[in-house]
Amino acid sequence: MLIFVEYVPVSDDSKELAPTDTEREYLDRKIKKLRKDSPEMVYISFPGDEKSTGGCVAAGRGFFHINSHGGAEPCPFSPYSDVNVKDTSLREALHSPLFTALQSGDILLEEHDGGCVLYEKKAQVEALISNNT
Ligand code: SF4
Repeated sequence: MLIFVEYVPVSDDSKELAPTDTEREYLDRKIKKLRKDSPEMVYISFPGDEKSTGGCVAAGRGFFHINSHGGAEPCPFSPYSDVNVKDTSLREALHSPLFTALQSGDILLEEHDGGCVLYEKKAQVEALISNNT
């Protein structure tokens, strides 16, 4: 298995380091060729494949991330947390107010310009977390 992880900025300062749409399209073409030429391998492009596989899989929709302090975050690229796994079970963390709001809204499925929907919509995520704390 080969996993390609695109650089995803988490601040405006590093936004220009993210691949452009043209670079993402290039990577997409290369991975399609690899899949065709070497089908015995599994290739995953993250977050590149998410648009064609049903949208963002963060916030417990497919996975979530636990930071080094125990905070349960939607994704490493969306570093917001309102629950700590030191204080709760993983099952309960999956139903935190932030995760519940993200899973029940449309944000994870929304169209977006860049590689990461939660980065593009970070103002909405920050509003959700401040509403719930
Ligand atoms: S938060 Fe961004 S990188 Fe993480 S799963 Fe969602 S779209 Fe992909």
